Amino acid sequence: MSTDRPRVLVVEDNFMNKVLVKEMLTLHGYEVIEAGTGKEAVELTSREAPDLILMDLHLPEMDGVTATRLIKEREELRMIPIVALTASAMKGDEETILSEGFDGYVPKPIELSKLLAVVGDALKRKDLGSGS
Ligand code: MN
Repeated sequence: MSTDRPRVLVVEDNFMNKVLVKEMLTLHGYEVIEAGTGKEAVELTSREAPDLILMDLHLPEMDGVTATRLIKEREELRMIPIVALTASAMKGDEETILSEGFDGYVPKPIELSKLLAVVGDALKRKDLGSGS
């Protein structure tokens, strides 16, 4: 097994969603670390420097929008793509989500193909941005 698998931090307080996302990503070659609150997400991000973060919006202690804002405020963490996991599927929401600093979003219920496409795209854009 390769040790350079992309590491994804999954921030989700719903047990079933967390298990589902973890399973899907692990099967497709990602390394997964987990957080259950926004506060934990900020702490784990600065400690583990994941390659990408999947962030639920509704979380205990600190919501996903606030956690994302705190992470994006940090110069050394800013380049980590953050993809929102959102239950809201209303028109216009995508714009709102992107204006909050997210790099993309996956609507719930989560579709495997959509999840993999959004995660893959965000990682590709990150690599292009870093010039490596
Ligand atoms: Mn939630």
